[in-house]
Amino acid sequence: MPEGDTVLQAAKRLHTALAGQVLTRSDLRVPRFATADLTGRTVLDVTARGKHLMTRVEGGLTLHSHLRMDGSWKIYAPGERWRGGPAHQIRAILGNETRTAVGYRLPVVELLRTAEESKAVGHLGPDLLGPDWDPDTALANLFKDPARPLGEALLDQRNLAGIGNVYKSELCFLLRVTPWLPVGDLPPDTAARLPLLAKKLLEANRDRPTRITTGSSHPGEQLYVYGRAPRPCLRCRTPIRKANQGDGSRKRPTYWCPVCQQGPTP
Ligand SMILES: [Zn+2]
Repeated sequence: MPEGDTVLQAAKRLHTALAGQVLTRSDLRVPRFATADLTGRTVLDVTARGKHLMTRVEGGLTLHSHLRMDGSWKIYAPGERWRGGPAHQIRAILGNETRTAVGYRLPVVELLRTAEESKAVGHLGPDLLGPDWDPDTALANLFKDPARPLGEALLDQRNLAGIGNVYKSELCFLLRVTPWLPVGDLPPDTAARLPLLAKKLLEANRDRPTRITTGSSHPGEQLYVYGRAPRPCLRCRTPIRKANQGDGSRKRPTYWCPVCQQGPTP
């Protein structure tokens, strides 16, 4: 799942490619907006809001897109081969004279009035990488349901926006509690560290192509637990464990060290 930092990087690339330039190509391949034409309009800016991408164009319109599990925006120069996937996976194309942005496998592509953007993203909690970041509100949101497992509460973007499945596992490791610990059982000093730690993790990775939470760029040592089962914990050498957390479509692979992290496990 794209994390807040991935979406932020996508927003920056799109902004660099499109902002300040007039669109000469516009093709939204979703039934509802298939006839919409944005050519002739200048792109004003591209920003990330949580995991949502907002491309604002002249005339008070915003193209809202979401990457969810495996969506992506690729940027191409004229004549460059498009390598983001087969043509039937293309959901949106926006281009000017020097760059073409192609959105692949985007589960959400919709045109909104810029004034009504909050209808699409207003349900999000404070954004870890946004100007509205507010650690106290984020923490209060997390504690609204004290019985909820920490890992699930961290992924719920209504609490705080930007944490995906990788940072969920990594953050729980750094806090030394399992993702199954009920939020209400977090020791107070641990809870107090959580918002700042989450923000530091995302900020440290905002401009990096690979995610690093350990401080080491060696392959296999970039993350403490995510994707590492059953290899030994980098801290105590105990085999890392893996189980799914959440139910139905929200089930996510989750990793932890049974020695370094305290709390219930499945
Ligand atoms: Zn360990």
